[in-house]
Formats: sequence, structure tokens, C-alpha cells
Amino acid sequence: MRSNDTGRPQAPSVTVIGLGPMGRAMAAAFLDRGYEVTLWNRTASRADDLVARGARFAAGVGEALAANEVVVLSLTDYAAMYEVLEPAAASLDGRVLVNLSSDTPEQARAAARWAAERGAVQLTGGVTVPPSGVGQPASSTFYSGPREVFEAHRPLLEVVTGRTDYRGEDPGTAALLYQIGMVMFWTSMLSYWQAVALARANGLTAADVLEHATETANSLPGFFAFYAERIDAGRHDGDVDRLAMAMASVEHVLHTNSAAGVDTTLPAAVAALVRRGMDAGHATDSLSALVDLMGTTAPA
Ligand code: NDP
Repeated sequence: MRSNDTGRPQAPSVTVIGLGPMGRAMAAAFLDRGYEVTLWNRTASRADDLVARGARFAAGVGEALAANEVVVLSLTDYAAMYEVLEPAAASLDGRVLVNLSSDTPEQARAAARWAAERGAVQLTGGVTVPPSGVGQPASSTFYSGPREVFEAHRPLLEVVTGRTDYRGEDPGTAALLYQIGMVMFWTSMLSYWQAVALARANGLTAADVLEHATETANSLPGFFAFYAERIDAGRHDGDVDRLAMAMASVEHVLHTNSAAGVDTTLPAAVAALVRRGMDAGHATDSLSALVDLMGTTAPA
């Protein structure tokens, strides 16, 4: 919060750079909470609704950086961050960059070093919700970076998502946790597209299979909990499921898809992974034996 000459407390303020669906939702959440919001985006028109609500669109990146100590970055990736910030690097001194852009843990660490060399500090964030979840009390973001910076700006961070999950000083950790979620998100969503493509090839609509798809997805957390305990104990007993069973089953899936004339990239990749476990001698072990194999790259 900034002070003014009258002694009255001024509204808290923030800069948001990057106005894709996420950045726009964040800027809107800050406006909802009475923040003075300064914006910059490569495509200026994306700010129109927010400016109509009282946000200020900076004439340039340097001006956007100069306007506030805390600068929220919501860009496609870190390459975009360098493209945006490099030309205005002289204005980075003293800034807190809350970088909510997705990228690899190594990119996040490199960017934290890059920021430090220019007098700024980076808090890495991984937002776990889509734009509709931004500003919601139950939504959550992973953060990592300097703890005192996180603590000092926690109220501002809690505007983005009601819950903030601080995971330590390493700026790569929040990015890693985000990517752990995203590997599941992307493969799960693609598995859903696959299921719908297969349904449609057989005359069923997405609506026809929605309940079945939802029940299948909802059954997964029970499997996660069951296997997590065994995996951490190094146990892959085939008492409940055996890889040989999985091999037969994933081939049924592959053949059902190929018979329907739909793309088989995804089911074929699944079958290849299970085949790798069979070739390594795990036929009578649990499907979870694949975790150990997947911890290394496949032999060429
Ligand atoms: P978008 O990719 O749609 O937009 C991000 C912004 O990046 C846009 O404002 C775009 O500018 C800008 N940008 C991209 N490349 C450049 C560049 N080379 N130079 C300048 N500006 C650039 O992303 P989202 O808003 O959907 O998401 C933002 C981040 O949050 C991403 O890293 C995403 O992975 C992550 N995320 C997204 C979620 C979602 O559901 N959408 C959920 C959780 C995290 P312009 O408007 O000019 O194109």
C-alpha cells in the first residue's frame, strides 16, 4: 500500500504484464479488491475492458515496471518474459517479479538469477486453476523463492488465488510442482479427447459418454492413494493387478481404437510403455512397476 501527502491510506497497487485469459482474470481480481492496477500487454486492445474498469495502461514496459514494486507476469513462457523485459531492464531494480508464467524449473531458476543481476527478485508461481478459478478463495498457487518476499506480499498473492502454497526458496520448485500437475492434466485431457473420438466414431456423442467419463476420472484418486503407499515402500506386488493383464487390456483399447478408424497415437504409446515393462520381466508384477522403468529414458 502506498502512502500519500494527505496521510490517508492509498489503495494497494500492482502492475500486471501479460493479458492472456489468465492475466486478464488476475487484473480483474485486483480491480475487484480495490487495487490500483497498471497494465501492459503486447496487444494493447486486450486491456480495453480493464481500462474501462479503472486500470491504467502504461505507455511502455518501463513505465509499467516503474509504477509499482510488485509486477505480476502472466506470459506464455519465460522466453516471452525476456522479450518483454529485456528492453526495459534498467527499470527492474527494486521490483518483485511474481512470475506466474509456465516453464521448466531450470528456466525459472535461470530467470531468478537474471532478475537478481538486475536488482529484482523473482517469486515463481504455478497457478493450479484456469481463469475462472482466479480470485476464488478455494483456488491455489504454488510459490517458491525468497520466503521473506513471499511473506511480505502474501495479501497481494492471495488476491490471485485465495490459497498460497509456499514450497521453499528454490525458484524452480513451484515450476516443478506446476509441471507435475500439468503432465497429468495434458495426458488426462488427451485421454478424454481420445474417449470422445472413439465414442463419436461409434455414433455416440460427448454428452452420451459424459457420465461414464466422469465416473472413470473420479475413480482415479483411489488408485493414486493405493499405489502411492506401495510405490514409496518399493512394493509392486501383483496381488491386485498384474502387468500381463494390463498388456492384454491396453491392446484391447488399441485395437478398439484402430478398428474405429480413430487416431491411435495415444493408445499405441500406452501399449508401448506396458510392453517395455513386460520385456523387462515384470509380467507378474503390478502395473506400478512401470514407475521405476519410467524413471529412466527408454533404451534406444
Ligand atoms: P496466453 O499464452 O494466452 O497469453 C499470455 C500472454 O503472453 C499474452 O498476453 C501474450 O501477449 C503474451 N505473449 C506471448 N508471447 C509474447 C511475446 N513474445 N512477447 C510479448 N508478449 C507475449 O496464456 P494464458 O493467459 O492462458 O496463461 C498465462 C500463463 O499461465 C501461461 O504460462 C500458462 O501456461 C499459465 N496457465 C494458464 C492456465 C489457463 O487455463 N489458461 C491455467 C494455469 C496456468 P498478446 O496478448 O500480445 O498475444
